[in-house]
Amino acid sequence: MGTGGNLIVGLTGGMGSGKSTAAALFTGHGFVRLDADQVVREVLLPSEEVRAAVRARFGRGVFDARDEQIDRARLGAVVFADDAALGWVEELLHPRLHAHWERIYAAASGERFIVEVPLLFEKHLENRFDFTVCVTTDSALQLRRLEQRGVPFGIARQRLAKQLPLARKCELADFVLLNDGTLEFLREQVSELARRLPPFHNH
Ligand code: ADP
Repeated sequence: MGTGGNLIVGLTGGMGSGKSTAAALFTGHGFVRLDADQVVREVLLPSEEVRAAVRARFGRGVFDARDEQIDRARLGAVVFADDAALGWVEELLHPRLHAHWERIYAAASGERFIVEVPLLFEKHLENRFDFTVCVTTDSALQLRRLEQRGVPFGIARQRLAKQLPLARKCELADFVLLNDGTLEFLREQVSELARRLPPFHNH
């Protein structure tokens, strides 16, 4: 949980349901956006410590041609085919991700954060947030959006199968944003929610 009277809202949903789109809309209402995937990509995977651990566990095969940076596609291919490998990577990254967030919250005060976390409920992170929001869309639309973004159908199906059904995430969330219409439809819902959420929370 954050400190300094920040409001910390966790945003989740399925892959391609519109989390990033919704998070970007929240920034228009003064929210500070944090993105778990981005921290993993830009802060954690490039760190010396994580690279050393990943090299020791998986070898050069998950690194780029110069054996310097972790190749996310290669690492992804390994972990999505092997639950033990996935668990290991999560145990490596998750505590570091949480520590990263905690540092950001501690340096802020009276801020509203919108934190994108794809596997918020799967990883039982709800207690880290004052409120949770699930972005939902129908599954055909979800697969189509992912395909348009270059994620092959088979890969998308495989990854979606590892997630809780979107309907279940919506049941668990405090608020639901329905993203099966236009961008404007989503924008209106985000505005309404941003207006209703308190300015900050006492921790
Ligand atoms: P997520 O972050 O959940 O994976 P994104 O926000 O990246 O999903 O959305 C997936 C894709 O669908 C993106 O290309 C995005 O621009 C598009 N998209 C999201 N919401 C809408 C919408 N309401 N109308 C049209 N395209 C949308």
